[in-house]
Amino acid sequence: MKIHEFQAKAVLAQYGVPVPRGRTAASADEARAIAQELGGKAVVKAQIHAGGRGKGGGVKLANSPDEAAQRFGEIMGMQLVTHQTGPQGQKVKTVLIEEQMAIERELYLAVLIDGFVGRAVMMASAAGGMDIEEVAARTPEAIHRVTIDPAAGFQPFHARTLCFALGLTGDLQKQAAKLMSGLYQAFTEKDASLAEINPLVVTGDGRVLALDAKMNFDDNGLFRHPEIEALRDKDEEDPTEVEAAEKGIANFIKLDGNIGCLVNGAGLAMATMDSIKLAGGEPANFLDIATANDVNKVVDALMIISRDPAVKAILVNIFGGMARVDVIAEGIIRAQQQMTRERSAQAIPVVARLAGTNVEEGERLIRESGLPVIRAEDLGDAARKAVEAAKAA
Ligand code: GDP
Ligand code: MN
Repeated sequence: MKIHEFQAKAVLAQYGVPVPRGRTAASADEARAIAQELGGKAVVKAQIHAGGRGKGGGVKLANSPDEAAQRFGEIMGMQLVTHQTGPQGQKVKTVLIEEQMAIERELYLAVLIDGFVGRAVMMASAAGGMDIEEVAARTPEAIHRVTIDPAAGFQPFHARTLCFALGLTGDLQKQAAKLMSGLYQAFTEKDASLAEINPLVVTGDGRVLALDAKMNFDDNGLFRHPEIEALRDKDEEDPTEVEAAEKGIANFIKLDGNIGCLVNGAGLAMATMDSIKLAGGEPANFLDIATANDVNKVVDALMIISRDPAVKAILVNIFGGMARVDVIAEGIIRAQQQMTRERSAQAIPVVARLAGTNVEEGERLIRESGLPVIRAEDLGDAARKAVEAAKAA
């Protein structure tokens, strides 16, 4: 789960990470009042989950309270397009007003899980700011990393190593070390998957603080953190993924292709997507229905898939172990009937490869329903037939 910059800053501040003063404004008048409180000058910042807001025109300086009100008007409600939003952009519904900082240096600092070593790493670079992706691609040696032993935690030598690489000495080093330790603590205690400060700034008056903040959380750890779950902003999430989560379908990810997939088991789902690609097609989603012996859940899942206008065919690939094929078959039948009603013409072609527990009963149900379910022998056959059906549609 992702949260907004102002929320991430509030979380980090609880762990002693210094952040600029400021708060969100609901109106231009409030933006003016906040700028006044902050001493007249302010930064007006669009709050969307995507990064790259600065380059997209979502971060603007204001040198007076009136200017802050004006910038607020420009940013609030704008369709902000960044390299992370896609061409359609994201509508700005929250705007943060912060004090302006005199920036001397822009650094980069982040904690994330390195899947290869299976540990948290802290990464830092002296080349922070808006082009860190380019730095990582062109001069990876400019990004410094320390791997952290989870049992020992973040140690003073980790901080010294990174501060040396960043050229921070004396009092700046002390401030940065404390900030790094707070960042690591926030990351681990909140079950984050990413905690990123870009830029981490050194100000003209000798302070080190987080000018921007981004935190992502491990969904599997959210049950331990209701205070983080409460920060969820569904307006920023894909509507079909939100619907899937609400209907108790945990593993649903929307993709760009035209073949919808309903599969049980994440490994089988991956193999199914690979097979579709191998057959020359593109999956429209990843969906692991898990062991859902619940007809309604199968119908919900198929209806979510079918409402995506890009979907031209659906591939159902079920290997029934604990999941029962007859339950899945009944779900397919009911979903096809509902699709026919909703589209008031034809249902989306469904290719089914069914195997395992109660497969005979499942096959009988489909046969007797008279619905045009395309039967497949194995996974390769199913993928080819789904690609063919999508092309024909
Ligand atoms: P992002 O583009 O979405 O990552 O948004 P950031 O919060 O990182 O802001 C983008 C850039 O705006 C920063 O890299 C800074 O250069 C600039 N910026 C943000 N706040 C201030 C500020 O208080 N003073 C100055 N001078 N520049 C700022
Ligand atoms: Mn940034």
